[in-house]
Amino acid sequence: NEAGEISVKDIDHIAKTSFPLCMRHLFEKVREDHHLKHGGRMQLGLFLKGVGLKLDDALAFWKAEFAPKVSAERFDKEYAYNIRHNYGREGKRTDYTPYSCQKIISSTPGVGDHHGCPYRHFSEENLRAALVRMGVSSRAVEDVVDKVRNRHYQLACTLTFEAVHGSSCDAGINHPNQYFIDSQRILQS
Ligand code: SF4
Repeated sequence: NEAGEISVKDIDHIAKTSFPLCMRHLFEKVREDHHLKHGGRMQLGLFLKGVGLKLDDALAFWKAEFAPKVSAERFDKEYAYNIRHNYGREGKRTDYTPYSCQKIISSTPGVGDHHGCPYRHFSEENLRAALVRMGVSSRAVEDVVDKVRNRHYQLACTLTFEAVHGSSCDAGINHPNQYFIDSQRILQS
């Protein structure tokens, strides 16, 4: 929703319908592993903030996702500060903005990291599997892979957007939060 407020219970649904692949991947991983390394927490956390998740809901979301592995006490001690920091409530009180595609594409995820851009950082095999799970047709998968081979990662993401929404995206994708807003606009129209 463009008005910009979501609650924790909305996240599952909007992740399926409107998250770009980079954020779907991080969301699936935190669900699976009940943990994300710093780079992933930053990339997904700031995106969710941009989508409209308020600070208290963000704290509740991460705390619940990490709960099988991280006690409430440890969460408050080790993770809550960073989340409040992202919302400008700690440190220099900068209100941090979500990462652009350019920033995400040029990041360098290491072993065990799940942040980054799947079009740039996944193997072709893993990318194909992820696209099929998103419901991209086999014809469109070939077009996406073709863009990736030519290093046109944002165009690959734009083609994916068009394939899953059955609607064109003339401006092209340049920000994960733009992907989300454009998706919601189509789904709610
Ligand atoms: Fe995310 Fe941008 Fe990569 Fe799409 S092109 S997956 S929105 S970083």
